[in-house]
Amino acid sequence: MAEIDHIGIAVKSLGAAKSIYEKLGLSISPEETVEQEQVRVVMIPVGESRLELLEATSETSTIAKFIAKRGEGLHHVCLRVPDLPAAVERLKKQGVRLVSDEIKTGAGGHKYVFVHPSSAGGVLLELVEE
Ligand code: ZN
Repeated sequence: MAEIDHIGIAVKSLGAAKSIYEKLGLSISPEETVEQEQVRVVMIPVGESRLELLEATSETSTIAKFIAKRGEGLHHVCLRVPDLPAAVERLKKQGVRLVSDEIKTGAGGHKYVFVHPSSAGGVLLELVEE
């Protein structure tokens, strides 16, 4: 069974973007920089899921390019799956296009992979393991 782990939102400024959630009284994680993705992020728990606000730390960041092209807004949806390598194997066999062929390891040691929007109804789909 998959669940929505988080929803990623590309923003120009974490400080500005956070304020609506502060006004709603939600708790917001401390800012964290993810070097390999060239982003600064905060996580906002919402029920059993989270919102992830992403701010570019460099002009070459995918988030900077996304905002330049499409403006701020919904960037990706992340599903948590029980067995990520098996899920990736299954998708590849069925010709699903992934952004990168290898499973990457994130800052907190979590494993993740992105499915290309062309294979997911125009939505960038992130998969992480439970
Ligand atoms: Zn994410």
